[in-house]
Amino acid sequence: MVLDAPGKPLRSAELEVPEPGPGQVLIEVAACGVCRTDLHIFDGELPHPKLPLVLGHEIVGRVAALGKNATGFAIGDRVGVPWLGGTDGTCRYCREGRENLCDNPRFTGYHIDGGYAGYAAADASFVFKLPEAYSDAEAAPLLCAGLIGYRSLKLAIAPPGGEVSRLGIYGFGAAAHIVAQVAKSQGREVYAFTRPGDRPAQNFARSLGAVWAAGSDEPPSQALDAAIIFAPFGALVPAALNAVRKGGVVVCGGIHMSDIPSFPYEILWEERVLRSVANLTREDAREFLALVPEVPVATRVSTIPLDAANEALDRLRQGELTGAAVLIP
Ligand SMILES: [Zn+2]
Ligand SMILES: [Zn+2]
Repeated sequence: MVLDAPGKPLRSAELEVPEPGPGQVLIEVAACGVCRTDLHIFDGELPHPKLPLVLGHEIVGRVAALGKNATGFAIGDRVGVPWLGGTDGTCRYCREGRENLCDNPRFTGYHIDGGYAGYAAADASFVFKLPEAYSDAEAAPLLCAGLIGYRSLKLAIAPPGGEVSRLGIYGFGAAAHIVAQVAKSQGREVYAFTRPGDRPAQNFARSLGAVWAAGSDEPPSQALDAAIIFAPFGALVPAALNAVRKGGVVVCGGIHMSDIPSFPYEILWEERVLRSVANLTREDAREFLALVPEVPVATRVSTIPLDAANEALDRLRQGELTGAAVLIP
């Protein structure tokens, strides 16, 4: 499914199977998750995508061919490909172990053709083996919703925010449904904020262990220690700052957000922290993929045929999906 230009529906096309270049593996795609970032690229909210482009950065498949010097995998291995598809390895951020902030990154399904396809080629050093307990479709949302969600959680509970026993999550979609399970397994209480009146999402959150679930227009029953915002709405930033206690941390987990309305300094005052999360490191991926079968995280997926990718994007936009949408070629 090809994106010719932002705003135009994806077009079904027969493309050549990619040749794996040096250091790359060719993957026969078995499943590819649909992420909100795909929608931002589709809508032209992220600048300069490769065009034409194959979207998709939650790829699960099997190694079908190895390029020259590609190591670590054998033909037939099941692998996953995340958003971070390559770095320069030399900029100050890479040298400091913060490759998520690389000055010259390459992202899957943005600069590199992704997984809304039968085959995809990926740099073998940015590809991961997946825990066996998950089916192909169930594993797909781990690769972005899970990974970025996990990094968001790590930053929400990091110093200097202090002990986090009450964690708010704004936007209860694919990322939240995974993070809520990890947070609960760590002994934290999860407070879920959904679109106002979205009872199915609130019930879904409760079914995953949230102690409280309501619309984002309602204040939580208790002050929160930290909050993660996954929904791309800037108006949630002041709402979340209002909901956290002194010294609490608010993490924006998305790659794009509508403008944040102005707010009085007093809701940031008292050492509240507002920060964003960008991308992932390979270390995040290794940690998270080892952690999920231990929790264990159960992913909820709706499988959709690849040729219905436009409908999948539309359903994500409308908030009609419970859990994660996964395309099956
Ligand atoms: Zn770099
Ligand atoms: Zn994503």
